[in-house]
Amino acid sequence: MTSEPQQFASDNYSGICPEAWAAMAEANHGHAPAYGDDLWTARASDAVRALFETNCEVFFAFNGTAANSLALASLCQSYHSVICSDAAHVETDECGAPEFFSNGSKLLVAPSSGGKLTPDAIRAIATARSDIHFPKPRVVTVTQPTETGQVYGLDELRAISAVCRELGLSLHMDGARFANACASLRCSPADMTWRAGVDVLCFGGTKNGMAAGEAILFFNRKLAEDFDYRRKQAGHLASKMRFLSAPWVGMLETGAWLRNAAHARDRIGVVRAGGCCISADKTSF
Ligand SMILES: *Cc1c(COP(=O)(O)O)cnc(C)c1O
Repeated sequence: MTSEPQQFASDNYSGICPEAWAAMAEANHGHAPAYGDDLWTARASDAVRALFETNCEVFFAFNGTAANSLALASLCQSYHSVICSDAAHVETDECGAPEFFSNGSKLLVAPSSGGKLTPDAIRAIATARSDIHFPKPRVVTVTQPTETGQVYGLDELRAISAVCRELGLSLHMDGARFANACASLRCSPADMTWRAGVDVLCFGGTKNGMAAGEAILFFNRKLAEDFDYRRKQAGHLASKMRFLSAPWVGMLETGAWLRNAAHARDRIGVVRAGGCCISADKTSF
């Protein structure tokens, strides 16, 4: 227990919350089938589907860089491009992994304030070039909340997805701190994602209190075709998958995912620009 002031990266520094830890301990009995064919992984996937109120495809990966990169790669051919903000983690903090895993899909970077994309910025980039010499825009990625702690309102997300549909673009959401956005807006995960037009979500577990793990959710199930091969090729199919999936059961079935985020919200006040801590406040565990 500490009561030091927390800063933005505190959600990387923290330990494991009790609910995630307990589920891992419970999963640590005897043997279980490997590579995701176990009961914990089935239960975790069902818990994700129940939380999002839809029959989405669910995959677990070790970290967010892989989750984002593999999700984006599944939405793109190598000659396509991905529109993101200038503050996007995929642009500034993934060492080129999205380009690497997509075999070259280019990131098209939009100027932004605090990392928020706008429909106008998306339209400007998506329509600037349509000639054969420029990579064809195919995907938009938004970070919710952004890298500086700003939150897109549901109306803003709907406006972005409308322009995506109009221009034939898929919409990906980097939700490394997705729980904090839900706590901040007090809205349901479904309203923040597929009901607002998001096709694929990377749902962060690590910064919400797990040891490791992110879930990739395909609301548009067709886009998940062969994703299992893509994840395996990238080295993100865990052999002892139950230790990656059990914490999700612990976090989702007990409600800890939202409790942690609400605790952070109430302690810090609001999610706000400027890099203030919005994470699950780990002083509590
Ligand atoms: C932390 C974070 C990620 C994932 O980072 P990893 O270190 O690869 O797990 C992705 N996007 C955002 C916005 C993040 O803050």
